[in-house]
Amino acid sequence: MIPPIANRFVAGESPAEALDHVRRLNDRGVNGIVNLLGEHYDEREAAAADAAEYRRLVADIAGSRLEACISIKPSQLGLEIDESVFRRELAEIVAAAAERDVFVWIDMEDHTTTDATLDAFEAVARERDGGGVGVCLQANLRRTRADLRRLADVPGKVRLVKGAYDPPSDVAYTDSTRVDQEYRTLLEAAFERRDGGIAVGSHDPAMIEHATALHERYGTDFEIQMLMGVREDAQYELAAEYDVYQYVPYGDRWLSYFYRRVAERRENLRFALRAVLSS
Ligand code: FAD
Repeated sequence: MIPPIANRFVAGESPAEALDHVRRLNDRGVNGIVNLLGEHYDEREAAAADAAEYRRLVADIAGSRLEACISIKPSQLGLEIDESVFRRELAEIVAAAAERDVFVWIDMEDHTTTDATLDAFEAVARERDGGGVGVCLQANLRRTRADLRRLADVPGKVRLVKGAYDPPSDVAYTDSTRVDQEYRTLLEAAFERRDGGIAVGSHDPAMIEHATALHERYGTDFEIQMLMGVREDAQYELAAEYDVYQYVPYGDRWLSYFYRRVAERRENLRFALRAVLSS
């Protein structure tokens, strides 16, 4: 069982708990992005086990008629073992998901994985003509403007985030004001040039406001994505007007994900301490 200290950010240890959470979200107009927690595998068996669980998950999502997609980390499917392992597992999940009309997102990990992740995305997106796949791009990386241009004629969706990793300054903007500026510029390029298929992965009211203004100007379709446990009231409010998705992590490897949430914001640390003191 997930202890109370972490259950604001993680839906449970089992897929059933994650899907119960998604059902409650759906009742309030919010869609789910289900993520099985796991990363940096160095054994093929671990990657294969998570890939098999994702294939079962897409069947469960389709069978329960939930408004939900999945999101996968490349290193969870074996990218650090061998790029071919990752590409094979990803292709099988995408095929299983496509049969059931379930969308697959590919998360972006640290900057050393960007090329391999985009190559794998491009391959599955072209094979399926874009139906049902999307990839994440990080605004803090200096290369991302070029990556967005590279993806201009690749079918599929793009999720824009500020970036959760700490890349060195030769490859990344390290000042948060600069990252915000870059995020705005990337949003403008995406709304102007992409045929829909944009996901705004941010809790930042300023970025969401910018995206909605761009939507008014260009009419481009988009969706807003936020994490479980972060600005949930805003998620429900925005869902009255826009497509909103909540990223819903589950699984027994919740500790490092939970630490990341606590480390990125003092308010989350205060929440965690209150949960310990009241338990
Ligand atoms: P921040 O710059 O963290 O915050 C800006 C403002 O947002 C704050 O000033 C505040 O007004 C508001 N805000 C933020 N958090 C809170 C809070 N807890 N409570 C109240 N207000 C708050 N990163 C990756 O590197 N790869 C990925 O694949 C990836 N996938 C993601 C998927 C989703 C759905 C989301 C939402 C994020 C993902 N991220 C990913 C993380 C992302 O890169 C950022 O680290 C994270 O979203 C924090 O940046 P932010 O844009 O939300 O705003």
